[in-house]
Amino acid sequence: MRYANVIVDISAGQLDRCFQYRIPPSLASQVQIGTPVYVPFGRGNRRTRGYIVELTDRQDYAGCEMKELSEVIQTEVAVEDQLVQLAVWMKQRYGSTLNQCLKTVMPVKEKVRTVQKRFYELSPDQSLVEQVLTQARKRSNSQGRVRVLEALQMQDHQSEEQLLQSQQVGKSVLKGLVATGAIREVCTQSFRTPSVLQGEGAKPVRLNDQQKLVVEEITARMDRPVDQPKKPCLIHGITGSGKTEVYMELIAHVLAQGRQAIVLIPEIALTYQTVMRFYRRFGDQVATIHSRLSAGERFDQFERARQGVASVMIGPRSALFTPFPDLGLIVIDEEHESAYKSETMPRYHAREVAVKRAEMAQAMLVLGSATPSMESYHRAISGTYELYCLTRRASKDSILATTHVVDMRKELEAGNRSIFSGTLQTLMEDRLARKEQILLFLNRRGYNSVVSCRSCGEPIQCPHCDVALTAHIGWRLTCHYCGYSIPMPKSCPACGSPYISGFGLGTEKVQMLVEKQFPGVRTLRMDMDTTSRKEGHQDILSRFGAGEADILIGTQMIVKGHDFPNVTLMGILAADMSLHSSNYMASERTFQLLTQAAGRAGRGSKAGDVVIQTYSPDHYSIQAAARQDYGAFYGEEMKFRQLMQYPPVMGMMAILVTSAEETLAEAAIQADASLIAEGYPMLQQIGPTAAPVSRMKDIYRKLLYVKSPEHEILLEVKQRIERLHQELYSEKVQLIFDLCE
Ligand code: ADP
Ligand code: ZN
Ligand code: ZN
Repeated sequence: MRYANVIVDISAGQLDRCFQYRIPPSLASQVQIGTPVYVPFGRGNRRTRGYIVELTDRQDYAGCEMKELSEVIQTEVAVEDQLVQLAVWMKQRYGSTLNQCLKTVMPVKEKVRTVQKRFYELSPDQSLVEQVLTQARKRSNSQGRVRVLEALQMQDHQSEEQLLQSQQVGKSVLKGLVATGAIREVCTQSFRTPSVLQGEGAKPVRLNDQQKLVVEEITARMDRPVDQPKKPCLIHGITGSGKTEVYMELIAHVLAQGRQAIVLIPEIALTYQTVMRFYRRFGDQVATIHSRLSAGERFDQFERARQGVASVMIGPRSALFTPFPDLGLIVIDEEHESAYKSETMPRYHAREVAVKRAEMAQAMLVLGSATPSMESYHRAISGTYELYCLTRRASKDSILATTHVVDMRKELEAGNRSIFSGTLQTLMEDRLARKEQILLFLNRRGYNSVVSCRSCGEPIQCPHCDVALTAHIGWRLTCHYCGYSIPMPKSCPACGSPYISGFGLGTEKVQMLVEKQFPGVRTLRMDMDTTSRKEGHQDILSRFGAGEADILIGTQMIVKGHDFPNVTLMGILAADMSLHSSNYMASERTFQLLTQAAGRAGRGSKAGDVVIQTYSPDHYSIQAAARQDYGAFYGEEMKFRQLMQYPPVMGMMAILVTSAEETLAEAAIQADASLIAEGYPMLQQIGPTAAPVSRMKDIYRKLLYVKSPEHEILLEVKQRIERLHQELYSEKVQLIFDLCE
């Protein structure tokens, strides 16, 4: 390769442009993608640091004089270098633009002004201080100065706010004193810490034998010599088996070595209690980021990490890019969660990027879950990962709940038309009488979800998306994709019939029905609608935890990770709702949700019950979840994946083509399909078809799947399709790839 495309000075945020340099023969053997280099830059040929992001034989601007790379930077790889290399790898892996990848790994590119905290100190020149003080004492309008100087003589180094308040002076007094030289201003950067209480240094619990074994084996692996590759570890531990305690022990181990740790959690707002445990154990060393932080807050947290003030970063998938100088451990809790997959470009999976980042930093990667993803478990039993199991609840008096699977078809046959089966109804009455708490889980929000016409049968659609609108109390219809919202129409927009009605079941409706069935009961509801405010989740959870309600009704949000000792009944109202989806992961998602939900009851010392209401009581994912039997589920599901040739048995890539013009999108996806059929006749295709939501925000969406046992081939297909689109289609057609692990 003769030329290197170099990105210069990423800190300035100029990620968009590459500059091309000639590679001198002397450096040819040292250059790679991601290598940091010095280049002559600008008119003055200023020696500037940059990164090689592409190597090529093609000259961008033929004919003009091209500058040469000056030097390859050989020093130890800085954390920025690692992150740039990660971005380059992500571009190759996920096929987005380098610009998008760099912005992803450096989420806080624009420098946000950090909050400066001002302090004042007396000048070391004591005679000067005395002189100013004497003068001020003589003048009646300088008493403020006197008070400030005397206060600093009592206690030097006080903050601005403290002085202003305690001495009742204005800022001009401090400025005036600074001008005399008697005091001086010192600024320290103060980092904004999100409003969580500071740690008080909780003592670690005594690990049980299973936990101890896992910690010992993983730390032994971590401490192996650097040249030995570190396999990622998967901890399969039932809910409440003490995985979090194991993570904390591992973190303590790397901190003791002066290294740092990243802990990924699916959504901080939903795992508040867990995060608080980290604060209690590690205090100020912990930093957190979450999706609701302001840009400034996020920047500060990353800065705390870079400067070594914080050593444990907890957050969602973007926390993976924390610029720790010597990362020793990455933990991904609830590794099966879909939140780890980015839905915007680059569409990366945090699990996969974590493997790469850990490899670069020579850090250990630990995945944990009660219901591991098919991908991870498959890797664990085939030896790519190490597998560790925690099979018992950690706290001695905690017992697994009794599970009842109720066939809702039989309820209907027996004349019960209520949303509560007989079993659930009886148990609810019992718990209310005993003043114990109940969770009711429904995997859907809104009142009656879909509204349709009883005359013509048409559901009321969003005009911008190919989905039905959902109804909410207050009688508005809303689109969950684009936010379009209208008042409930009085007649059918399609045929004019006045007979329109909702069907289905939403959380709001459940709440209403509960209050009707159990008069006087206190309820709380938790779903996307009730948690949209900044502290929404925490508010509801702590009110429920404090016993302000008897029943908490909610969507998936309520099944994740909370520990309410007084909850002894979990009602899953419609277990198969997530089973009937066209996605090949439908059974896996159902099993995960049900198993987690079942794990919520009986966390404390009181025995619990779980009622699973379903129309498919014999489905293996429901059966296995009821028995909390991961192995049985994995076995059955693997048979299905094998039969259908789905991941993790096969590699699979989705190709999504979108355009505001439907004919263009259609033509492009057909061209892609032919390219694959001609160039790779052995590859199996599914489609092309319209995407499940065939139009979103007025953009048409066409979908094609291609499968291969070899990732490399799929990547090659991706590159050829990218090239085809570059040649044939303008900006009017967008191309999105989604490559399964
Ligand atoms: P998981 O992360 O696997 O769901 P946790 O670490 O949250 O499990 O532990 C569940 C509960 O058991 C917590 O209340 C925790 O404090 C407690 N616990 C964990 N390990 C121990 C132990 N070794 N001894 C006593 N209690 C423990
Ligand atoms: Zn819409
Ligand atoms: Zn109609």
